[in-house]
Amino acid sequence: MMVSSLVELGVDLAALAHNYRELRGRCDPQVRFLAVVKADAYGHGLLPAARRLAAAGVDYLGVGSLEEGLALRQAGLTLPVLLLVGIVPGEAEAAVAANLEVMLFRRDVAESLTAAARNQGKKARVHLKVDTGMGRLGILPQEALEFLSGLREHRELEVLGLCSHLAVAEIEDKTYTLKQLKEFTDLLAAARGQGFKLKLSHIANSAALWELREAHLGLVRPGIMLYGSPPAPHRPPPVQLQPVMSLTSQVLQVKRLPPGSAISYGGTYLTRDWCDLAVIPVGYCHGYSRLLSNRGEMLLKGRRVPIRGRVCMNLTMVEVTGIPEVKEGEPVTLLGADGGDRISADELADWAQTISYEIYCALGSANPRHYSGA
Ligand SMILES: *Cc1c(COP(=O)(O)O)cnc(C)c1O
Repeated sequence: MMVSSLVELGVDLAALAHNYRELRGRCDPQVRFLAVVKADAYGHGLLPAARRLAAAGVDYLGVGSLEEGLALRQAGLTLPVLLLVGIVPGEAEAAVAANLEVMLFRRDVAESLTAAARNQGKKARVHLKVDTGMGRLGILPQEALEFLSGLREHRELEVLGLCSHLAVAEIEDKTYTLKQLKEFTDLLAAARGQGFKLKLSHIANSAALWELREAHLGLVRPGIMLYGSPPAPHRPPPVQLQPVMSLTSQVLQVKRLPPGSAISYGGTYLTRDWCDLAVIPVGYCHGYSRLLSNRGEMLLKGRRVPIRGRVCMNLTMVEVTGIPEVKEGEPVTLLGADGGDRISADELADWAQTISYEIYCALGSANPRHYSGA
């Protein structure tokens, strides 16, 4: 049964594949490519995104939870999968059984993985996570060699490499990023000096992929650029990215309000003149942030129309004064292109005081998705 919906979230899988090819083209051929599909592929849908990226040729997938990793396996995807936030001990058996690789930063997890691998007669593959300055997950560099040595007797554990995450790679000043990178490569050299092979080490997110080739190492781990947005909104990368997600709806009611009319909860907008208003059946329950109240814009008949008053749970009002013949049922674009104009995730993010990443997660998790370009 088709679910009819006044709100349509589009996902263009051909654009996703295009972005992959653009990014792949920025890397040397021997560099492996891990597509980050955590958080339901940044709201684009884990399985459709992962399948399309696998078909396009990515080498690895990165997910945010054991559940996501298992879902990939149940869908029949056989690519290497890395659990980017690691696991807790109780998840070790399932992770090993499904051949999921784990970012490791806890000794108890190393023990559990070793035990699980022994039980199942398999190897458990891990990537040792080092905190080189992100101040988030990972062991500190000065503790890493000791941690690694402690794993020597864990024969069932295969440490594929070291990994770390960059905190400010998207800004123009690369001082801090290069410091992180040096900390990382120094540690890698020291570990190799002690006989650890560490054949697959990695640190590069989207920003480092396009701006810091020396950070590519054995593997790159981009996310946001696959979905068509630059990591830094005001510095467009030198690759042709295509937006993947769009959000459209239609006018539910049009009406003309007299001067001095209050619009929406709180009466935060008062009309000065006669005002043609269109009511759009999208609100914050659809992931369309209430922070867009009196700030955001939509596209209607290829023109920008401003939001008037507060965004409600299911409804938002835009002013269409001066646009001829706006009818009920008229298509409206909240994210994406109409005519020659486009509203990007970065623009929505700017109005809503956030980043494109959160816009994608919010819209993607709240709306039924319609796929094209599979
Ligand atoms: C989310 C994430 C990435 C991808 O970051 P982007 O900025 O989206 O490219 C890479 N590595 C790790 C560990 C992550 O959590």
